[in-house]
Amino acid sequence: MSAVISPDMGSVLVTGASGFIARHVVLQLLEAGYRVRGTVRSASKGEDLRGALAGQGADAARFSFCEADLDREDGWAEAVRGCVAVLHVASPFPLGNPRDREALVGPARAGTLRVYEAAMAAGAARFVATSSIVAMVYRANRPAEMRFGEGDWTDPEWAPLTAYAVSKTRAEQALWAQARSDGTLERITTVNPGFVLGPALDGVFGTSLEVIGMILTGKYPAVPPTAYPVADVRDVAGVHVRALQTGEAAGRRLLAAGETLSLKEMAETLRAAFPGRARRIPRLQLPVWAVRALAVADPALRAVRADFGVRPLADAAYVTEMTGVRFRPSGEAVVAAAQSLIDTGKV
Ligand code: NDP
Repeated sequence: MSAVISPDMGSVLVTGASGFIARHVVLQLLEAGYRVRGTVRSASKGEDLRGALAGQGADAARFSFCEADLDREDGWAEAVRGCVAVLHVASPFPLGNPRDREALVGPARAGTLRVYEAAMAAGAARFVATSSIVAMVYRANRPAEMRFGEGDWTDPEWAPLTAYAVSKTRAEQALWAQARSDGTLERITTVNPGFVLGPALDGVFGTSLEVIGMILTGKYPAVPPTAYPVADVRDVAGVHVRALQTGEAAGRRLLAAGETLSLKEMAETLRAAFPGRARRIPRLQLPVWAVRALAVADPALRAVRADFGVRPLADAAYVTEMTGVRFRPSGEAVVAAAQSLIDTGKV
């Protein structure tokens, strides 16, 4: 039976603590009474985060940080020392799509294994890694409406995949393979979020909110025919925290996603919520044939070509049942994301 981690058992390490999702994870851990150590790539980001946490009313005295980079060995043994559990959230996540599809595998896979091995060597009772639905949904010959769940795996050899999707899939596969061979499955969980929206804490947002910014500002006159299961960052953070507190979560892949919205539906939601900006928000959705032709010359469109014309629907009811986290309506996550972009002057 796997351990359930309570706040009195020791500190929890969160990697990449300064990121969009991780800072919500840190905040919720502090709110739940845990002591948290975060890894950052520069001390100034750690200081900023401490200020942001205090600004949210959290007890920032229970937060400490240290520097560590996924590309380097040094720092990880010290980072995990004395931690009862590790939430490995850090991963390279660029908006651009490197031409070399294996380009991000190094830091993602080797980085995940490096943090996992340091955690196991330090005797951590639980290791939760943030994977993604991109490690679940991609393969050839998908139907236009595609249900998927815990047992589904992306085929990393499928040609249209982005370097990011290849890296997340290979990193997650490598983690499960290593855990099987080490006999540590009862300590491992992955969280596989959908398209993460919702509020950016202190104006720090990742690649997913940039898409909302592009729709709000009308960067493109029409949206591509793509759709994504949406997850609010607060619910994604909640699944991470509950994974530590739920014995049955060990050895499982926790799909963290609610309803699916197309980019066109996101644009409609934004138009209704922000009528003063409605004029700039695109109304048109490109047909699949047109977007395929345009993608030949446009790298941003090429990066989402695997998504054209497919509506993936997430079967995540088992996660709600297991963890108690209910995924809030996707429209709410879209509006909260836009509101924080507006409030922080990003759009
Ligand atoms: P962010 O870009 O905000 O966060 C990524 C974090 O990883 C940052 O803290 C970044 O550090 C850190 N990082 C990147 N490269 C390295 C490295 N070489 N060494 C150490 N740290 C590194 O993105 P998100 O918060 O959105 O993503 C967090 C996790 O969630 C990732 O694993 C991502 O794949 C996953 N995910 C995200 C989704 C989304 O829609 N946002 C959907 C599904 C999964 P720094 O601050 O210094 O740049």
